[in-house]
Amino acid sequence: NLEVGIVGLPNVGKSTLFNAITKAGAEAANFPFCTIEPNVGVVAVPDERLKVLHELYDSKKTTPASVRFVDIAGLVKGASKGEGLGNKFLEHIRQVDAVAHVVRCFEDPNITHVEGGIDPLRDIDIIQTELCLADLEVVEKRIMKVAKLAKSGAKEARVEDEILRRIKEALDEAKPARQVDLSDDDLEVIKDMNLITLKPTLYVTNVAEDEVATAFEENAYVQKVKEFAAQEGAEVVAISAKVESEIAELDEEEAKAFLEDLGETESGLDRLIKAAFDLLGLQTFLTAGPDECRAWTIVKGTTAPKAAGKIHTDFERGFIRAEIVNYDDLVANGSVAAAREKGQVRVEGKDYVMQDGDVVNFRFNV
Ligand code: GDP
Repeated sequence: NLEVGIVGLPNVGKSTLFNAITKAGAEAANFPFCTIEPNVGVVAVPDERLKVLHELYDSKKTTPASVRFVDIAGLVKGASKGEGLGNKFLEHIRQVDAVAHVVRCFEDPNITHVEGGIDPLRDIDIIQTELCLADLEVVEKRIMKVAKLAKSGAKEARVEDEILRRIKEALDEAKPARQVDLSDDDLEVIKDMNLITLKPTLYVTNVAEDEVATAFEENAYVQKVKEFAAQEGAEVVAISAKVESEIAELDEEEAKAFLEDLGETESGLDRLIKAAFDLLGLQTFLTAGPDECRAWTIVKGTTAPKAAGKIHTDFERGFIRAEIVNYDDLVANGSVAAAREKGQVRVEGKDYVMQDGDVVNFRFNV
């Protein structure tokens, strides 16, 4: 499952957002997750298609795809040096797939900013520097280890050493490792280090409640973050943590009306999840039947047997074929049988690359 780590300076709105996430997750109907660690919140990936399939099949339950958010509190200036519990939290980020970096873009004289006034780029720089320092420590340790092997002539060690030095050069200048030009082979070599600054990053600009609808295009702070993010290939979303925490208290109808009042159609949390999906190149495929309708997360480009393996390793091992109907065709026809009559149910083999919205029935040997 997709796991996103939330970072940011103190007082920027992380806990407010995280509490909204936890509440949204806890209140989603039929959600199969219960007790987890206090700093982890699980939310459903919004997908209207599941609702439609649920009605079509009159299925007993629906299971959405989910995203785990991990609140990584405690990042302050000097965190990488062990100040303010930072180091322990840095270890948590090594495990996540993507980083959501919350940046304060709302003015509020009652809420002090730890670094003085509102300045999102300075804030980003502080956090980024800490993350670079944390990675630098890991990279330098690794360089020392590899150097010995390289001296004795091991070819792989020399290759790794060269990659590590290029990364170190960037980190020394507080530039994230994701800005270093690394090939897929290079990435494979250094994969186990789980460098934080190599992870895809999403900037979450936290804006004032009354600005949610316009901030992404108009708020001056947000524009600065967008410019910065564009340079480093990161994504940006504008949300109001306060609005999210209010939405989390409402039922679905109320939430819809509340969002409409704000000039929005989607909650910030939903936009955040979608942005994370885009950033990581993820998509969903669907399985449907009377017992369960379910959405599954895969990386774009995943082949049918690998997708089957998401459901069960046996499905991948014993994969024979996939019977696939496109979601729109299925709904237009009202049933798989009707779609089949029109020749819209395809039989695909092991080289088939899954498409978004495929409704699948895998055939496999046990
Ligand atoms: P954290 O330290 O990053 O976890 O920040 P918190 O979530 O605790 O937020 C710090 C303060 O800012 C709290 O008093 C929040 O109520 C307030 N806050 C968070 N988001 C917003 C927002 O969108 N607008 C306003 N006005 N205040 C907010």
